[in-house]
Order: sequence, then C-alpha cells, then structure tokens
Amino acid sequence: MQGVIIKGIGGLYFVKVKDMIIECKARGKFRYAGLTPVIGDKVEIMLEVDESKGVIEKILIRDNEMIRPAVANVTQAFVVFAFKQPDLNMDLLNKFLVLCEFYRLKIVLCLNKLDLVEEVNEALIKELKSVGCDLVFLKAKEGQGLGELKTRIKDNITVFCGPSGVGKSTILNSLLGREAMKTGDISKKSQKGKHTTRHSELIEYEEGFLLDTPGFSALSLDFIDKEELQHCFPEFEKHRCGCRFSNCMHYKEPNCRVKEAVEANEIYTDRYKFYIKTLEEIIARGNRK
Ligand code: GDP
Ligand code: ZN
Repeated sequence: MQGVIIKGIGGLYFVKVKDMIIECKARGKFRYAGLTPVIGDKVEIMLEVDESKGVIEKILIRDNEMIRPAVANVTQAFVVFAFKQPDLNMDLLNKFLVLCEFYRLKIVLCLNKLDLVEEVNEALIKELKSVGCDLVFLKAKEGQGLGELKTRIKDNITVFCGPSGVGKSTILNSLLGREAMKTGDISKKSQKGKHTTRHSELIEYEEGFLLDTPGFSALSLDFIDKEELQHCFPEFEKHRCGCRFSNCMHYKEPNCRVKEAVEANEIYTDRYKFYIKTLEEIIARGNRK
C-alpha cells in the first residue's frame, strides 16, 4: 500500500495511509543507495504480520526535494511578509519568490500586519500582481484573512516561508488552534533553537498538509544555474521567444525582447534589476570555482 511520510524520528517513519498512521522502518537498501526517506515522500509500504507496523519498500520519485528542513514533494508556499515590523524588504521578497519558482511551487503571498498601516501601497500591489502572485492580506493577530488561506490548503503540501517576525507562527497556530510553531520575539526563538533538535512534521489540515517548520532557511540563490535563473521569473516567459538568440540570458545580448519589455514598462525595472544582480552573483561564483 501507498502512503506519505509525515514524521521521522530516529530511523522510524510515520506513514499516513488513508485514515491510519503506520510506524515504519526503512529497508537497508536505501541506506546503501545513499537515499534517506524524508517527510513528504510518497512511499510503498508492506505491513508486518500484526499490521500495526510496516516497512518502507519503495520511495516514489520525488517531484522536488528541499533541504533544511528536509522535505519532498512540496507543492505550495505561503510566502509571508509584513507590511511593517519588519518593513517589507523587496530584495528579500524577490529571493523567496525565485526560490519558490525554482521548486515550481504555487505561491500565495501573504501580506500580514495590515493593521499597522494606514493604507496599502497600490504601486507595490500592482508590481506583485504582475509577477503572478496570488495575494492575501492578513491581520493574523486578529484572525483576519485566515479563511482565505484555508481554502488554498486542500490537496497541497504547503510550506510557510518568509523572514523572522512576520507572523508565520501566528498564522499556522491560529489555523490549527494550537502552538505548532513558536511565536514571539526573535531572540527567544533562536535561544530555543540552540538547545533543541527539531523534527519537522507534516500536519494534516483541511485535506492537505502543512509543514510545521519554515522553509528555505538557507536563502542563497547561488546553487541555481545561470541558464536556469530566467525561468524563475514568470513574467519574462511570454517575451523570451522574441529574443534574437534562443539561449539569450537577457543580459548583454543585442535584440533582446525581455530588455525591450523592461524599457516599455511591461516588466518591472526593479524585478529585472534583481534578476541581473542575481545573475551576476551566479556568474561570479562560477568564475571562482
Ligand atoms: P514568525 O517569526 O514569522 O513566526 O512571526 P511570529 O508569528 O512569531 O510573530 C512575530 C510578532 O508579530 C509576534 O509578536 C506577533 O504577535 C506579531 N504579529 C503577528 N501577526 C500580527 C498582525 O497581524 N499584526 C500585528 N500588529 N502583529 C502581529
Ligand atoms: Zn533576451
């Protein structure tokens, strides 16, 4: 039978099969092949005689795989940022968006702490929409906007991501009605992190799964190939075929349709600048190798 690993502790894996959770060990062959089962893995298991425990026989091919936290087959990201406290940092937001695109995740951009601003910056909202973001405004502390998120959970494995202090834990805990992620000020959290080893877990909710640990703890985009980077900018997509060179990186090449689209304000200049900055970092890293 097939199931999904929702938790793993000390070589034991908890596999959700229909309405049951079955404690499983993994076959030794995985270890020899250098393959470790991770949460999110779809697995084929065989029950032991007494049927309360099982053995993982096969790990199905992963759609994607993240490290720190180690999780497979994530389909969606709730990218959380605050309007204020901390201020919305576009560079950081773009980094998260690029990472989500790299892993081919559906993105729900959650803009929290709406209660702290007098009015919403419309230009900013327009820019975010141009990138194709599904936007949800929240006042998580007051529980506002959570319903919007609830409707997007079904059939997904969703990871929360975003900087510290924006309200990720507040949102997750309010959805679940219990403390699954630690809230509070940053210093308290990092202290806690030093002394405890966290096992990330998938929590079943609204016919989907939520990861109880924020995603993308390492924010470097360095590992992305320079040719791959442009595919993490969805708004470039429809212009790319107009470039003179089929392998155009929209950098120093002539007759580049993407650059023309930037000139014509069809692509936001800031997003293009962020693309070039990141591309140059990736190229510089390549040269160092
Ligand atoms: P995390 O680091 O992203 O998990 O953020 P937390 O959920 O721990 O929240 C950080 C701080 O922001 C806490 O003091 C929360 O009470 C506060 N907070 C969360 N949501 C809101 C909100 O909608 N409005 C305001 N004003 N504060 C919020
Ligand atoms: Zn081009």
